[in-house]
Amino acid sequence: LGARGYPHKKLLADYSTFGIGGPAQQILEIRSVAEMEAAIQHCRSTGQRWIVIGKGSNILFNDRGFDGVVLVNRLESFSHRRSLFEVGAGYGFARLGVQTARLGWSGLEFAGGIPGTVGGAVVMNAGADGAETADVLESVQVLCPTEGIQTLARRELAFGYRSSPFQEGEQVVLAAAFRLHPSAAAQARLLELLAKRKAKQPLREQSAGCVFRNPSQISAGALIEQCGLKGHCVGQAQVSTIHANFIVNRGEATCQQVLALIDHLKEVVKHQTGIELENEVRYVPF
Ligand SMILES: Cc1cc2nc3c(=O)[nH]c(=O)nc-3n(C[C@H](O)[C@H](O)[C@H](O)COP(=O)(O)OP(=O)(O)OC[C@H]3O[C@@H](n4cnc5c(N)ncnc54)[C@H](O)[C@@H]3O)c2cc1C
Repeated sequence: LGARGYPHKKLLADYSTFGIGGPAQQILEIRSVAEMEAAIQHCRSTGQRWIVIGKGSNILFNDRGFDGVVLVNRLESFSHRRSLFEVGAGYGFARLGVQTARLGWSGLEFAGGIPGTVGGAVVMNAGADGAETADVLESVQVLCPTEGIQTLARRELAFGYRSSPFQEGEQVVLAAAFRLHPSAAAQARLLELLAKRKAKQPLREQSAGCVFRNPSQISAGALIEQCGLKGHCVGQAQVSTIHANFIVNRGEATCQQVLALIDHLKEVVKHQTGIELENEVRYVPF
């Protein structure tokens, strides 16, 4: 038997920054649009469930794994013409943030510490420090299993706080184009944001970033802390002692423990403050 009692099989734990998750029927790393089309076509014709993931930095997989095919997006093209950057959805979002700031382009400095892919950032409308992905997005190329490949302009898409039209339905983000503007201060801004993040987030531990969306009045972390829950554990899942909106895996945490901790946090916060916390982390059931 391999890791955690499963016969030598790749585990989703290795595809999630939480380090949690059992096996899948198949885990395929997709490196071209043609491979993505063929894989989805195959799943549709065999009736298998499928899911596309990026770096798994906002996902909680089940301990039993996923009863279907996991397509890991590795579409990593990159090109730019003046202020327009066109990037494959599997390209690292942090890498893009660092690279563009170093080249003297402003708009994606906030991305420098976000450990997902460009595709994951579009789907989650990832953001930080008052900026978000949709702010600098020009267009998104998607694969719609029934209608093929389409390019959608930003103005056609309704983004909200950590939400996008791609969170429901079967569209796969293949690439995105970002419009940036020249700025001599971009690199300094990036470094400032990275230093702030290093001081305030548990970056050495396994987590999926913020677990809850921030309610409008107050941050979720502040609420959890006010309720005395910083450091609270269920098994090996713990509310970070550094940032109360992070749950960290202390080594062998299970999905069940994380879910139980999430439920407990929601219940106590609701009871003590009347505010209902809403998940930002996406749970993928078996
Ligand atoms: C230490 C740490 C810090 C973080 N800081 C931030 C932060 O400051 N701001 C922030 O917003 N987030 C933050 N996050 C969360 C996370 O990095 C972002 O949500 C990121 O955008 C997720 O990208 P991903 O590629 O890892 O997506 P995944 O976690 O792999 O997937 C997220 C969701 O998107 C779907 N998806 C992914 N790619 C595609 C695609 N190509 N097409 C269709 N669907 C797709 C998945 O099915 C899933 O539902 C942090 C996470 C960590 C671990």
